[in-house]
Amino acid sequence: MATLFENVLAQLDKVIKVAHIDNKALAILSHPERVVEVAIPLIRDDGSLEIFRGYRVQHSSARGPYKGGLRYHSQVDLEEVKALAFLMSMKTAVIDIPLGGGKGGIMVDPKILSRGELERLTRTFTRAIADFIGPNKDIPAPDVNTTPQIMDWVADEYGKIVGHPEPAVVTGKSIEAGGSLGRDTATSRGAFVVLNTYLKKQGIPLRGLRIVIQGFGNAAEPLATMLSQESALVIALSDSRGGIANPKGLDVAKAKVDKENKGTLSESLSNQPKGTKIISNDELLITECDILIPAALENQLTKENALNVKAKYILEVANGPTTPEAEEILVKRGIPILPDILVNAGGVAVSYFEWVQNREGSHWSAYEVDRKLKELMERAAGGVFVSADKYKTDLRIAAFIIALERIAKAMALRNPDT
Ligand code: GLU
Repeated sequence: MATLFENVLAQLDKVIKVAHIDNKALAILSHPERVVEVAIPLIRDDGSLEIFRGYRVQHSSARGPYKGGLRYHSQVDLEEVKALAFLMSMKTAVIDIPLGGGKGGIMVDPKILSRGELERLTRTFTRAIADFIGPNKDIPAPDVNTTPQIMDWVADEYGKIVGHPEPAVVTGKSIEAGGSLGRDTATSRGAFVVLNTYLKKQGIPLRGLRIVIQGFGNAAEPLATMLSQESALVIALSDSRGGIANPKGLDVAKAKVDKENKGTLSESLSNQPKGTKIISNDELLITECDILIPAALENQLTKENALNVKAKYILEVANGPTTPEAEEILVKRGIPILPDILVNAGGVAVSYFEWVQNREGSHWSAYEVDRKLKELMERAAGGVFVSADKYKTDLRIAAFIIALERIAKAMALRNPDT
């Protein structure tokens, strides 16, 4: 199977078939500007030594300092991080915030670590990449399996190195440690705004739509909650160990409590409405529904399952959940895909707000954050819909065109030789 990086680069070939983007810019953007790979030694609680691998990939700084999350996952590798860094450059450009794109991570399953081990690992990683990050250089944030607490440790360790508190070095911190209100739900709120903007354009009410969500983490859980509060019918949910489904609708609030208390969604079965059953992640993706929301990891919709997808629309909350082969099949089948680089950009949008607040030494209200996020996401979504009409293309290509045009223009203006 092609790597995620190969998959994202394949998008560029599609873009140049419908729009003119400067060749030099495309060639430059096909390579990350910098790749940092580090070894992270950790003395485990039992006294043994284990070495983990960590990465920070800085893709493009054409529009501002690098920006993007840190992922802790056993599948993290350089190709994945390169792809995710590339997608961050696209995302910050699609929503037009003055930042570039980067991504990092550690190849580790954080569930095997104690809290102390997690903290030591994070602090050692921060020291290893400290020369490359900073509020004007590269600003990490949460991603898969990373939390506000982990961001607080990064900020604290970095502050010790530079000799003063520097909260703007990282976003997604706890509120008490300089985080922004609304950051925890920003990715889901942004996705919710994009979905609503799209449905409004199509004249489809959200009420009663049957929604299937793969995932129940940082992004998926608040989105499931928002959708069920707006009277959509969440009919299937999953976590890494499997899912639960009920064609008449699940009780998302109870699923959340059970997941928090018992660790897995399947433990929520007895608290769910009659008729709820356990399903696998594979079954979930082919459940009949109106909107399928992959909100976990990449490469979930593949050529193996795309023909069996029974959704009317796909809302990509995860990064890179659809392979190019699957996309071809889904597009042919007339299933529109609302693309990740637009849909999940609410997270980095509020990260940007947090960075601005840290730099100006202020604190915005939750109302102000949500209002600004809504405005920004509606504008970005509207831009993508207009671009799709203008170029007569799908929403992903339309979003890529906007991003690449903006980045190429910044490159040309700053230095015509590149
Ligand atoms: N990890 C998130 C993403 O993939 C957020 C990145 C950020 O806030 O910088 O978009």
